Amino acid sequence: MFASFYPLRWLTQAVAGDAIEVASLTPKGAEPHDSELEIAQVSALGQADLLVTLGGFQAPVDQAVEASPPAAVLDVGPIVGIENEDPHFWLDPTRLARAAEPIAEALTKADPAGQAGYAERAVAVAAQLEELDQELAAGLAPFEDSYLVTTHAAFNYFGERYKLNQLAVAGIDPEAEPTPARLAQVKQQLEGLPVKTIFFEEFASPKTAEALAADLGLGTGRLDPAETDNGGDYPTIMRENLAVLEEGLVRP
Ligand SMILES: [Zn+2]
Repeated sequence: MFASFYPLRWLTQAVAGDAIEVASLTPKGAEPHDSELEIAQVSALGQADLLVTLGGFQAPVDQAVEASPPAAVLDVGPIVGIENEDPHFWLDPTRLARAAEPIAEALTKADPAGQAGYAERAVAVAAQLEELDQELAAGLAPFEDSYLVTTHAAFNYFGERYKLNQLAVAGIDPEAEPTPARLAQVKQQLEGLPVKTIFFEEFASPKTAEALAADLGLGTGRLDPAETDNGGDYPTIMRENLAVLEEGLVRP
């Protein structure tokens, strides 16, 4: 069993249970936007029963599926509702939860004997994500309509869910640096807004955030876009993000 990158591996593993090992096609510690596949991974994929993936997000994964197709592929894109070619759906836990049952069905096709366990764990993990969603909603309610200034534009679905206006300095790719013109534009925008923090993410260079924050007399805060496997646990990462946001957002 394979999943293409961290949040899908986390979810697939939760549904599959401890008896099955779900491997990720994105190495530990690497961010998925520009990860490459090793030849050994491509051939292992061809032997696999199932790949859970987000089609169109990681070109090397899509190419590997064509070159070396596993027995079954579940593309969660249509299930979770991808908007504007933005891959970061998992930052809205309710969108991630939508994939739990289809993953249980796909696992059941590969291994009919496990059906009851897959179905049961899919319900349990969806409930866990629902609870997380309620915590996030309650924690962020006082900040409704406030501005979430980030470097990497990962928080659109999150902002949509919890009613925060994401203002991203750079684009969807965490390694893309903003142009000087873009920085000047952001500076001008920020001067008139009630914000006290520029949030940056792992893998996005903190330099941009730090320089901008210093220029404007603002603080910085570190968010984890939960897209890289650092050995953590998705709900824990999101709860840590909530604490950072409660500290750094400004009540409107
Ligand atoms: Zn990202």
